Amino acid sequence: MSAHTHRLTALLAAIEQGITPEKPDIAWLLEQRDPLNTARLFAAARSVRQRHFGNQVFFYGFLYFSTHCRNNCRFCRYRRANTSLKRYRKTKEQILSAAMEMATAGVHLIDLTMGEDPDIVGGTQSQIQAWLEMIRSVGQQTHLPVMISPGSVSSDVLADLARAGVTWYACYQETHNEQLYDTLRPGQNFHRRMSGKYRARDLGLLVEEGILTGVGETAADLADSIDFMKRFAVDQARVMRFVPQSGIPMARTVSPGRGDERVTIAVMRLVMPDVLIPASLDVDGLAGLAERLDAGANVVTSIVPPLAGLAGVANPVLDIAEAGRTLAKVIPVLHRCNLVPAAAEDYQAWVTRRQAMHRSSDLCRSFFSREPAPCA
Ligand code: SF4
Repeated sequence: MSAHTHRLTALLAAIEQGITPEKPDIAWLLEQRDPLNTARLFAAARSVRQRHFGNQVFFYGFLYFSTHCRNNCRFCRYRRANTSLKRYRKTKEQILSAAMEMATAGVHLIDLTMGEDPDIVGGTQSQIQAWLEMIRSVGQQTHLPVMISPGSVSSDVLADLARAGVTWYACYQETHNEQLYDTLRPGQNFHRRMSGKYRARDLGLLVEEGILTGVGETAADLADSIDFMKRFAVDQARVMRFVPQSGIPMARTVSPGRGDERVTIAVMRLVMPDVLIPASLDVDGLAGLAERLDAGANVVTSIVPPLAGLAGVANPVLDIAEAGRTLAKVIPVLHRCNLVPAAAEDYQAWVTRRQAMHRSSDLCRSFFSREPAPCA
């Protein structure tokens, strides 16, 4: 057995016993590209997923309801400076109609995503109140958990979102290398964005963190991100491969191969066995779904209704008009991967358990801070 194979065998055996790899080992796992080694990584990730989630997969309906944004992220076509873009802001009625369509189709959660729309997060009190009312209505009318991706918002707005009944706060750092972050997200404070996640956790919200590959990061940077996500105990961990777009400063940056994203999914699953990991339809559409599920993902995200005039993020139109991002097209792929759609109650039960887990660890922490005694 080569030293390389021996190291992989030893690491996978340790993970199997519940030992979390150290950062240098995470970086080494992320660099694996030999098909024999990646096949072993994917098989190990599927086995870990099976242990924690069985063969069930969750579905998220994606509603990108405002493509206006005050920021200028270098990797994003919705950046403020991209004046070639036709933007939209959906009305409450349009949002509710699309949300109901996806709820009826059988998604487990509604993901309400927006750019940092100056007329919403930077808007007047009445604009913010109308936005909160729309979010509350989506939850009440669909009877589904709601995830909000509003970008970096103030502590007060996060508290308003919690009061509006939101279950999840999604806020992607994209990288935890501060220098690279400053290049990718000019003018946006790294620590302010991070602190929103801690505040959301304190408010009882579940938190999704995300990283982007192919934007100048190293394997060590990715390992740092995964290590942060593990320590913070994120509830959902996303990775997406950078897709070049016209009208952005990184238009000529070459997108990494699919392997990067799949290997990162598998390593995240091995390091964070019990968290939700998306297979996004946003990067490679339906054609890329099976390989992401085979790498250990257990949530299909970016399900979009075909006729609502809604956009994707990394790929604004891929598979949407053709109804390729619908459950009718996704479920047969699941079956080919020996997976099945979860029941709505199973998703809700997972959410409830996860919220209880955070509450009990908070109690544990506050107990420790008062009294240095064991907290079982
Ligand atoms: S990534 Fe988000 S915050 Fe950055 S420009 Fe795009 S929509 Fe705006």
